[in-house]
Amino acid sequence: MTTKQQPSYWLFLHPYVYVSIKKGKTILYNTLNGTLLEFDETEKEILKLLEKLNSDTHLYVVKIRKEEINDNLARFIEKLRETYSGDIIDTSSRPHKPFQPKPILNLHRTLDYLTEGGEKNKIPVNDQVKDYLNVITIYLNGACEQTCPMCQTAFKQFPCCRKTCHQGTIDIEDIRRLLAETKGNSLKRLNIIGGNIFRYSHLIPLVMELNPLAITRVYHLHYLNLRDNPEFYKEFRAGAEKNRLNVTVHFPLNRDAFNAAFKQLQNENLLKVKFAFVIQSIEDMTGAEEIIAAHNIRDFEFYPYYNGGNLAFFKDNVFINREALVETKPGMNDILARQLINSQEFKKLTILNTKEIFANPNNPRIGRLGQDNIYNLIFRELHKGKSWTKTRKNVTPCKSCVYNALCPPISSYEYVMGRYNLCTINE
Ligand code: SF4
Ligand code: SF4
Repeated sequence: MTTKQQPSYWLFLHPYVYVSIKKGKTILYNTLNGTLLEFDETEKEILKLLEKLNSDTHLYVVKIRKEEINDNLARFIEKLRETYSGDIIDTSSRPHKPFQPKPILNLHRTLDYLTEGGEKNKIPVNDQVKDYLNVITIYLNGACEQTCPMCQTAFKQFPCCRKTCHQGTIDIEDIRRLLAETKGNSLKRLNIIGGNIFRYSHLIPLVMELNPLAITRVYHLHYLNLRDNPEFYKEFRAGAEKNRLNVTVHFPLNRDAFNAAFKQLQNENLLKVKFAFVIQSIEDMTGAEEIIAAHNIRDFEFYPYYNGGNLAFFKDNVFINREALVETKPGMNDILARQLINSQEFKKLTILNTKEIFANPNNPRIGRLGQDNIYNLIFRELHKGKSWTKTRKNVTPCKSCVYNALCPPISSYEYVMGRYNLCTINE
């Protein structure tokens, strides 16, 4: 006598669905259409099933018997279908377990490829390390006559000029050596900043030497320092293809000085100028919008500035909430990469006018210009650094938060504010 087989199904998740399980909460995020399903401890049966689905043994596919499909499970399957996150197939039409590859990191090269010789004897694979430097921000000098209140702290939050009392200056020979070292590699952009770069005595020779290079050069000036400098403007225009000017504006505004600076830019017929508005409050935001409208400014960016007393402004305007998180619609590669690297910091170095080199100026320096080989520093940062590979899965409270791979990477604001959760999600 043959026993009749019970009807059963393969319950599966699509490979483009990201699953995160933390402290009695689980999310299923569809990386193609951005839908987010959330389950908490009130749905124990579903949480258990999701744990099974997500395990390395089951790889997004489990077998369920027809009689197991109660109302809860039926609703769950319906949600999977509605969001195109998963489904069931009758095992009679598909007797073998379908192969459903769980998502794995698909970066061009994972960090392990950068080493040879095993864990104990890591050595840089030089050709590959050279691909890991895209942006250098170099502070040429610290000289400046202005007295902006944000001067000593803003540069730790975003690229902003900074004056230093000891007036340290980068030797042009050091810049030449740096350019020779990085020549023909992956360097794409050089941010050139001060102090007031107009007071850097080798500025014109530097602009002339940079003009023929294939990298983008962004010269940063505060609007209060944007004065007549015909030689600079002439050489800047000569490299127009790759030269950009970034003009920092902070509030309260010196209207006369701003108008004079703006006129200067118009007279010099400079293209590719971007205005960087430093914003500490809603009033600053309104002020910036007025200037943008009055001068018909097309290229601009707002940089929120944390001054120690404007947490409420940050909470309302900078902190991420659930809706904003979902709206960013990160793709699967973003999500997987965010578990390994800080994509906002990755491949970027800052060199202060003290010659100290940082992967992020909020963390300890990683070397010194003129003393250290830049690619040895990069290798060390990749393997032992505190910036490029710092992710939310390493910090409290994010490491136990179910959204940690969906959230944007840790920002400099978080170091400055001393908290890793610039969000209103778990409040
Ligand atoms: S212009 Fe720049 S360097 Fe000068 S004081 Fe202001 S923020 Fe500091
Ligand atoms: S910032 Fe941290 S705590 Fe907030 S939602 Fe993201 S991972 Fe969670």
